[in-house]
Amino acid sequence: MKKHNFYAGPSILPGYTIEKTIEGIKDFAGTGLSVLEISHRSKEFIECMNDTIALVKEMLDVPAGYQVIFLGGGASLQFAMVPMNLMNKKSAYLVTGEWASKAFKEAKLYGDAVEVASSKDKNFSYIPKNYTVPADADYFHVTTNNTIFGTQLKKDPDVAVPVAADMSSDIFSRPVDVSKYSLIYAGAQKNLGPAGVTVIIIKEDVLGKVTRPIPTMLDYRTHIKAESMFNTPPVFAVFAAQQTLRWLKDLGGVKAMEKRNKEKAALLYDEIERNKLFVPTVKDPEDRSLMNVCFVMADEYKELEKPFSDFAKSKGMIGIQGHRSVGGFRASLYNALPKESVIALIEVMKEFELKN
Ligand SMILES: *Cc1c(COP(=O)(O)O)cnc(C)c1O
Repeated sequence: MKKHNFYAGPSILPGYTIEKTIEGIKDFAGTGLSVLEISHRSKEFIECMNDTIALVKEMLDVPAGYQVIFLGGGASLQFAMVPMNLMNKKSAYLVTGEWASKAFKEAKLYGDAVEVASSKDKNFSYIPKNYTVPADADYFHVTTNNTIFGTQLKKDPDVAVPVAADMSSDIFSRPVDVSKYSLIYAGAQKNLGPAGVTVIIIKEDVLGKVTRPIPTMLDYRTHIKAESMFNTPPVFAVFAAQQTLRWLKDLGGVKAMEKRNKEKAALLYDEIERNKLFVPTVKDPEDRSLMNVCFVMADEYKELEKPFSDFAKSKGMIGIQGHRSVGGFRASLYNALPKESVIALIEVMKEFELKN
């Protein structure tokens, strides 16, 4: 039976990425060696790294004055690296979910991190509006897509201080105006490749302004200077990311991707609204994530949660269990998820409704 991969992360990758990665495992760039055993200092891998960086810049239209680096440590390491490198005294955080809360917690270790707004009062089911970012903050941190709670910040923030954004779960899913951000980071394992690498896009002029000593490995300048080769980079994960970026480019880039993603999400949200068994957890359509669609059973049908879960699984729907802090269901519709999978899930929801 066909499996439909709705996992939140690591998550579905394009068939192209899987195929090209298999080829590279057997023979990387015509070297006769596997990408798993190639030196990161080989001419072929340096080329791969440079091309992957160039593709990130091309896909997101990264302006001059920005650098792209690839690091290990996951997006979670960025929660600490951002304040360590950017905060002298004060920073501001928009607390919109679990990842945002974790980022905020790390920032407090390095100075006066303030919460400008939070949606915790309603279990992070909306994006706070009408907040003020202190003018003396060294940066303002946002999480553009809240993977666990299914909300998304769809407008680039327009504030007077530098913006740092965790885009782990919606990078490359739509165009963003990179010039509105001073730093963007994203773990690869949602829209880019396998786990093991984090992409960072950074405006160089925000660096070098803090007085604290920064360990060499945790200083962005180290990795910019060494072109992501200060130490051994995650060779395999970068290679796989390159394949996904080629696939993305071939499909027409982030603009074409956004169109597809909007279509997929609209189909599923419409069904959740229509189907008597389900309700969306995010009420305001403006705040709804196009990447992670969260829904629960309607009050009258709460006892059907487990039966629906089992039914969906029996039909090949994988990874639709909601995060334990939300319950219910979450279908992740990342770039690589085909529309056919969304249609298949909708069919399952309709079939289950008829049976009940
Ligand atoms: C998955 C995720 C993270 C955590 O990424 P790791 O690479 O596991 O550290 C952080 N932020 C967001 C928004 C995520 O979706």
